Amino acid sequence: MSNLKHVAVVGATGAVGVEMLRCLEQRNFPVGQLTLLASARSAGKKMKFKGEDVTIKELTPDSFAGVDIALFSAGGGISRDFAPHAVKAGAVVVDNSSFFRQDPTVPLVVPEINAADVKNHQGIIANPNCTTAISLMALYPLHQAFGVKRIFASSYQAVSGTGAQAIEELAKQSREWAAENRAWDAAKLSSKPHVYPHQIAFNAIPHVDSFLDTGYTKEEMKMENEGRKIMHHPDFRASVTCVRIPVFRSHSISISAEFEKPVDLAKAREVLAQAPGLDVLDDPANKVYPLALDIAGRDNCAVGRLRIDCALDNGLSFWVVGDQLLKGAALNAVQIAECLV
Ligand code: NAP
Repeated sequence: MSNLKHVAVVGATGAVGVEMLRCLEQRNFPVGQLTLLASARSAGKKMKFKGEDVTIKELTPDSFAGVDIALFSAGGGISRDFAPHAVKAGAVVVDNSSFFRQDPTVPLVVPEINAADVKNHQGIIANPNCTTAISLMALYPLHQAFGVKRIFASSYQAVSGTGAQAIEELAKQSREWAAENRAWDAAKLSSKPHVYPHQIAFNAIPHVDSFLDTGYTKEEMKMENEGRKIMHHPDFRASVTCVRIPVFRSHSISISAEFEKPVDLAKAREVLAQAPGLDVLDDPANKVYPLALDIAGRDNCAVGRLRIDCALDNGLSFWVVGDQLLKGAALNAVQIAECLV
């Protein structure tokens, strides 16, 4: 590869795709040529990159001639069907969907944790699930210090994690409630939801992704399955409940973790303060803890509410927040691409 790369973004118009362009630009990634790909609906429209208009093209199997790095963010079906064409054309694919994540030939990477795995790629590198990536930003440094055995966690996930249509659904429902001048106890709207199975505005939906026979959802099991692969820790266990809440941006996760070694709170704080890509915001007496609204748009994740868990042996409880469009998707993908150059 030469110094300047021909980069393709598949799903450029989506919630993640837009952030990918921003990350490539802000981090001054060495882009020589940029190809923006989306569905036929978007073909011919323009997006700005470094002040220049770039015309979006329709994704086809022939879209990847001359492409060095293809950032995929258009859903698992598109990755399944088109990533092999990109690899065949000589590109390295960084894929945001879940399609390749458990493929043993595909590295699954959070650069702050397992950047070295990138070199094992055979054309495709997978970007982890957003809730998992954000959680591991705090859990992995603690694992290095104390050896994590298992976690119990609940997530509070933003609608932008579902994509552009879900952002619009929350905005529309919120406007409808305000426009109808409804009382607080008449928050159930008459309009039907389209993206989520229930109204998301003023609600909390304990249902992210599809249900498995065990009663967990696929999203919930990603924490254990992807956590094991990223941390190289095959015995890691995670019991998770994922909840969608009416927040536009940034996922929050409440984690109670049990470790092999006794946890010292001061040492935990020190380890987290030194962790790359993570800020410690932990001064409850002064109402300081990570908040989705504050973390939105920021590269770093943040951890707070640190306390020795009262119900686990060698346990620590904490609250971690990250912008899932950035560390959970676009930023992590661009960081992986940086490992390639
Ligand atoms: P989104 O906002 O719905 O965007 C979907 C993108 O895919 C759009 O650019 C869309 O183009 C494109 N697309 C749809 N059908 C296509 C087709 N037939 N051919 C080519 N392009 C097509 O979704 P998103 O939230 O950005 O998510 C994209 C991917 O990233 C998903 O795999 C998701 O699981 C993953 N991901 C998302 C997040 C997140 O926080 N949102 C986090 C981690 C991973 P048009 O505009 O032309 O329809």
